[in-house]
Amino acid sequence: MKPKEILLNIQPRESEFKLNSDLVGDEHISTSYDTPIRPNAFDKSDLTKKNIIEFHFKQIMETLGLDLNDDSLKGTPSRVAKMYVDEIFSGLNPRNKPSISLFENKYNYNSMLVEKDITFYSNCEHHFVPIIGKAHVAYFSNGQVIGLSKINRIVEYYAKRPQVQERLTNQIANELKTILKTQDVAVIIDAKHLCVSSRGIKDDSSSTTTSYYSGKFNDSEVKNEFLNYSFK
Ligand SMILES: [Zn+2]
Repeated sequence: MKPKEILLNIQPRESEFKLNSDLVGDEHISTSYDTPIRPNAFDKSDLTKKNIIEFHFKQIMETLGLDLNDDSLKGTPSRVAKMYVDEIFSGLNPRNKPSISLFENKYNYNSMLVEKDITFYSNCEHHFVPIIGKAHVAYFSNGQVIGLSKINRIVEYYAKRPQVQERLTNQIANELKTILKTQDVAVIIDAKHLCVSSRGIKDDSSSTTTSYYSGKFNDSEVKNEFLNYSFK
């Protein structure tokens, strides 16, 4: 893509701008279960993506009035581009999905397994500012078990996308159900959204909790056992 074409594309009309940003953003509504990804999302190489993001981020900074000749600022567009593609949005690319190996449940451990307080960093897809939270995940083995650190990796993979918390919760749960071939999975996420605490309503004390229960976890006794482990 030539820089000229890029420039033409980034001039929203005033009315369009208002429409796009106001309808869902501040209400934090999620509109789809799957991350909305374009069919050609991975046609470009990571390097091309970084170059394009660097170009655009420079435009944003200059539009805000910043002097990109300043020593402290001049490397920022390329740093942001690298960080977007290689780190905080790397979970958009299926190539970065963790490979999961399962093990036979040799110990015949048939009780609930809980992995709690998994810290994650994500970003709100409406404002592109951080969501910082903890995930608590539980399952009953259906004959196979998963390496514990792999649960962290799955949480991390889905967190490293522009996200809404409801979708993140469901994506983690569904991935585990698929991998472990069981319905008996539960996920709770408790997270702080910086778009709520550092801007907008500026509520620093609230956090958001979301949950997903399926299979045995729909039984209230089982659910309570999980809640007791996760919140004590
Ligand atoms: Zn937000």
